[in-house]
Amino acid sequence: MEKVISGIRPTGNLHLGNYFGAVKSFVKMQDEYDCMFFIADWHSLTTHPTPEDIRRSVRTILSEYLACGIDPEKAPIYVQSDVKPVLELYLYLNMNAYLGELERVTSFKEKARTQPDNVNAGLLTYPTLMAADVLAHKADKVPVGKDQEQNMEMMRLFARRFNRIYKVEYFKEPESFHFNQKAVKVPGLNGSGKMGKSEGNAIYLCDDEATIKKKVMRAVTDAGPTMLNQEKPEVIQNLFSLMELVSTPDTYAYFDDQYNNMSIRYGDLKKQLAADINAFCAPIRERIQAYQKDEDYLNRVAKMGAERATAGAEKTLQEVRQIIGFGK
Ligand code: AMP
Repeated sequence: MEKVISGIRPTGNLHLGNYFGAVKSFVKMQDEYDCMFFIADWHSLTTHPTPEDIRRSVRTILSEYLACGIDPEKAPIYVQSDVKPVLELYLYLNMNAYLGELERVTSFKEKARTQPDNVNAGLLTYPTLMAADVLAHKADKVPVGKDQEQNMEMMRLFARRFNRIYKVEYFKEPESFHFNQKAVKVPGLNGSGKMGKSEGNAIYLCDDEATIKKKVMRAVTDAGPTMLNQEKPEVIQNLFSLMELVSTPDTYAYFDDQYNNMSIRYGDLKKQLAADINAFCAPIRERIQAYQKDEDYLNRVAKMGAERATAGAEKTLQEVRQIIGFGK
């Protein structure tokens, strides 16, 4: 079975965009691949989170991924900082990673521009740590969005370079895995663009019923259709796109007909959408709450993940040390 590894940035709660755009596919992938998911807490240090932030976000991610259906028996979830051999590989890879190429990475340049007071070495070597995470497990595939493509190219370059320097065929080049072929784009509620936490237009899986209702009822609309069967403007299409994800086909067709024959009342549409989003989120929300209270279970999941990931990474590192010339 092919090995798939995916890092999760510990940044806030999961929203519907994350769920339909990524996590839903992860849940499916765990049956088709040998999957591992890790919480990238070392990577998160580039922005200097507080210890409380780190502890809270690790617990949040674990609870939310488990609540969405990741089964830690099938697909271990581990905390990056629990798997120490990766750090050693990071050091080795850094010795053959060059300043010029690291400085040319777009995401580095962007971060350097947006946080000029904190252009730290961790930021510069983000691609070598990402490569170490994946190469330590000899993963075949890495699910990534477009923004990570360059980091994937760097990873392949580091793998090839290691093989060339030591005259071995040791690391294979991991492939980018575009699981989201159809490119599900979950829209936001503010009329344009996609749902995102920084956009302030997101509905989170942990939002309660009243919050969901408030957010949906506030969504931007227009004055209504002025012609039969007219094309929907973006603000309205967005509500229908959300409905397509969470409502039944009959409900969708009912409101679509109403739009087309110009009898639609957006208030009714929104009430239905809010109810359907809540019906979708409620069981996940309840599971999130239950997991968050069960610290023992979360610790067990993280420990189990750490043990499996460390065993695999340590085996790789034993071989890498030999290749490099360390040990007997
Ligand atoms: P982020 O936390 O914003 O980096 O998102 C993590 C992943 O969730 C992304 O790589 C996408 O696969 C997915 N995602 C986030 N927002 C959306 C959205 N509005 N529509 C579809 N997918 C999304």
